[in-house]
Amino acid sequence: MKIATKHLENDKTVSMSEKMDPEEMDLDIGVMHFPGSLVLTVDATRSGHDLTVGVHVEGPCELTCSLCLEEFNNVFEKDFTLHYDIKGLESVVIDPDVRDEIIMENPVRILCRQDCRGLCPFCGANLNHEKCNCKETE
Ligand SMILES: [Zn+2]
Ligand SMILES: [Zn+2]
Repeated sequence: MKIATKHLENDKTVSMSEKMDPEEMDLDIGVMHFPGSLVLTVDATRSGHDLTVGVHVEGPCELTCSLCLEEFNNVFEKDFTLHYDIKGLESVVIDPDVRDEIIMENPVRILCRQDCRGLCPFCGANLNHEKCNCKETE
């Protein structure tokens, strides 16, 4: 998203919204995948040479459970604030900073649910769905 700073009045907040293509943003790294577009909503306020941008990102995401390896759907949502020095600039492109904020959320370990039982270490059965007989012969 490009914010034209030229026409921003001092201390007046301008709101805008835009859809982002996760593929274009190169967001498909780590354990989060984004199957659809993300919606970016911003409030931009100029104060002299400073531009403050409040950002809300929201969109569907797919996660893979660290224990049972099943994919499940979730909603990605994050609010953050960006600051720019706009002295001499006519516009600011916030996409790289938005990408950084999203990538920072990539968790190391995620569970499909709090009590996920994971996979049996012996036969690989998904213990959320089935019982295996490994325990008896352990
Ligand atoms: Zn799981
Ligand atoms: Zn088993």
